[in-house]
Amino acid sequence: MEYPRAGAHYPRSTGEFLAWFGTDEDCLDYLEWLRWPGGFTCPSCDHAGGWRLGDGRYECGGCGRRTSVTAGTVFDRMHTPLTVWFHACWLFATAKDGISAQYLQRTLEIGSYATAWGMLHRLRSVLIRPGRGRLSGSVEVDETFIGGEEAGLRGGRQRGKKVLTGIAVEVHEPKGIGRCRMAVLADGSAESLHPFITDAVEPGTRVITDGWNGYIGLDGLGFTHERRSQRAARTRGDDPGELLPAVHRVASLAKRWLLGTHQGSVEQAHLPAYLNEFVFRFNRRNSRSRGMLFYRVMELAAGHEPIRTPTSLPAGSPAARRRPHKAAAIRPAWNAQQRTGPGARPRCSSRFHSG
Ligand SMILES: [Zn+2]
Repeated sequence: MEYPRAGAHYPRSTGEFLAWFGTDEDCLDYLEWLRWPGGFTCPSCDHAGGWRLGDGRYECGGCGRRTSVTAGTVFDRMHTPLTVWFHACWLFATAKDGISAQYLQRTLEIGSYATAWGMLHRLRSVLIRPGRGRLSGSVEVDETFIGGEEAGLRGGRQRGKKVLTGIAVEVHEPKGIGRCRMAVLADGSAESLHPFITDAVEPGTRVITDGWNGYIGLDGLGFTHERRSQRAARTRGDDPGELLPAVHRVASLAKRWLLGTHQGSVEQAHLPAYLNEFVFRFNRRNSRSRGMLFYRVMELAAGHEPIRTPTSLPAGSPAARRRPHKAAAIRPAWNAQQRTGPGARPRCSSRFHSG
């Protein structure tokens, strides 16, 4: 297993990014390497091997079907040139707090706001890594209303619809916050909360909640449940709002991010995709390499079913599970020895994969 390396598998800087991905052909080469690190595999029949046609598509050596490298990825059937798409991915991945559709449209001079928004939405929707690890150790869980805020309204009741969101956060002793998970909940009942927790948290974990009835029964699901009573906190003279400091910290960061990067203009139906993006960024907040985030985004984008409608895929949908995450499957051809000089982009060693 080879860990992706800066300068070999992903660009180290914007300058290097621009040098690598100057043409759509460059982008296709990179996608081809990400999708089929061991050579072409037919998406229809799983046959390994085929040949590349003059128009850049592949013909399967088994069933004869022709397929393009972008088929079945988020780049499928988009009129936007791949170079623009890649640049959008670079900006999306390397900006610490992400970018708004308005910023993307302006920066890359994309024809319409809707196109720019659609690109970002497709990227957001692939950020749930299939098979990702569940939270473990000690985990605080709470539910809170998120979204619906409108810029310029302060305090009191805010207009717009808020969505009940489950938040689970790893807490480190004596202090510190690990990874988080978020999901939109139908309501605050045990029927909604229990599946959220079993999906997000490893069995055997110490799960800390407040005294809400919806959390009763977690012991029976294999967790060590610690309930913190608000009444007891009040009796002790503690602030009941500080019972679960880690989840409250993450919730306020998420709300601030929605208001900041996205000016709070997030429709209820799209909130799950925005939460995906927040969790992806939060869990990688200490990553020193922004280029590495670009690689992760591209890896997910290249292996994902296209999102045709502006709705996000649920985490466990068949489409989200279809292509497993293959960080280890690096084609050896894509490395420094392929490069011919400083700043030159890596190239595939062969355009022909025999069956
Ligand atoms: Zn085939």
